[in-house]
Amino acid sequence: MSRVYNFSAGPAVLPEEVLEEAKADMLDYKGCGMSVMEMSHRSKMFDDIIKTAEADIRKLMGIPDNYKVLFLQGGASQQFAAVPMNLMKNKVADYIITGQWAKKAYQEAKLFGDARAIASSEDKTYSYIPDCSDLPISEDADYVYICENNTIYGTKYHKLPNTKGKDLVADLSSCFLSEPVNVSDYAVLYGGVQKNVGPAGLVIDIIREDLITDDVLPGTPTMLKWKTQADKDSLYNTPNCWAIYICGLVFKWLLNNGGLEAMKAKNEEKAAVLYDFLDSSKLFKGTVEKDSRSIMNVPFITGNDELDAKFVAESKAAGLENLKGHRTVGGMRASIYNAMPKAGVEKLVEFMADFEKKNA
Ligand SMILES: *Cc1c(COP(=O)(O)O)cnc(C)c1O
Repeated sequence: MSRVYNFSAGPAVLPEEVLEEAKADMLDYKGCGMSVMEMSHRSKMFDDIIKTAEADIRKLMGIPDNYKVLFLQGGASQQFAAVPMNLMKNKVADYIITGQWAKKAYQEAKLFGDARAIASSEDKTYSYIPDCSDLPISEDADYVYICENNTIYGTKYHKLPNTKGKDLVADLSSCFLSEPVNVSDYAVLYGGVQKNVGPAGLVIDIIREDLITDDVLPGTPTMLKWKTQADKDSLYNTPNCWAIYICGLVFKWLLNNGGLEAMKAKNEEKAAVLYDFLDSSKLFKGTVEKDSRSIMNVPFITGNDELDAKFVAESKAAGLENLKGHRTVGGMRASIYNAMPKAGVEKLVEFMADFEKKNA
C-alpha cells in the first residue's frame, strides 16, 4: 500500500486511523455479522451510531441544548435552497458575496425572495473578506448569510460580520471542525462534510430550535423542511448511513486528539509552514490578502501559467496530489484539512523550494 499526500479541496483526505477502523469493521460491524452499509437505519445498531455521533459532535463543538443537529442529504448546495425556504418569512435576506459558494447561495435565495448582496469582494477576484463592521443590513432582513471559509479563493472571516441583531446563517463546509466556534453566534450553521469531516453526500446543520417551525415558504418540499427532519431525528427517510458512521469515527478521532482547540493549534502550525514559505519565496506567491487568509485552503501561483502546469505535473509525480487550483481560477491550491499531517505540508514546501531553485 502506498498513500499519497492528498491536497484535494474535497472530497478530501481523511484520518488514516479512521479508514483503518472502517476497514476492520467492514464485513462484521461489532459482531452483528454485517457492514454498516447493509444494516437497517431503524436497527438498534444504527440508532447507536447516529446517537453517538450526535453526542460526540455536541461535545466537540459545545453545541447548546437549544440547537438541533441534523444529518441531511443533498450536500451543502441543497441548503442553499433550504435556508430561504425555512427562514424567509419577510422574503428579504442579506448576502455577503465572498466567492462562488456564497454567490450560488445568493442566486438560489433569489428564487424565493428579495436576496440582497450587501457586500462583495468580487472586485478583486474574492481575494479578501470585506469590512463587515457596519454594513447596510436591511431593516426587514430575515437573516444575514455568509460563507465563512471560501474553499476556492482561500479566504476566511477572522471576525464574524456585525449583523446588527439579525440572525446569522453560515456555510462552514471547508472549515467545519477545524477550530472551535461559538455556536451561539449563529442562528444556523452548516457544512458539507466532504471537505474536512467525512465522505460526500452528507451535510450537517446546526440550527437554533426556534427557527425550526411549520412556518415555511409555501411549496417547500417535505424533505427540505427542517421541521420534518428535526421531528424524526434525521430519520424521516433513509439517511446517508455510511457517511454518518464515518463522521462518527472522525468525531471520536478528534476527541481522542485533544478536540478542536488542539486541532486549531495544529492547523495554524501547518498553515504557517506554507505561508512562511510563500512570503519568502521569489517564485511562488499567495493570492490572498494576509488578514483574510484561510488555514484550510491555500491558493498560490508562480505568475506563469506554463510554470504552474509544470509544477502541478511534477508535484503529482512526487506523490503530492491534487494541487491544481480550481478550474475557474487556475494556479495551485493546497487544501490542508485536519487529516493532512504536518509532514505532508513540509514535504510540499521542500518540493516547492526545490522547484524554485530548478526554475529560477
Ligand atoms: C464544497 C462546498 C460546497 C458545496 O458542497 P456540496 O456538498 O457539493 O453541495 C458549498 N459550500 C462550500 C463552502 C464548499 O466548500
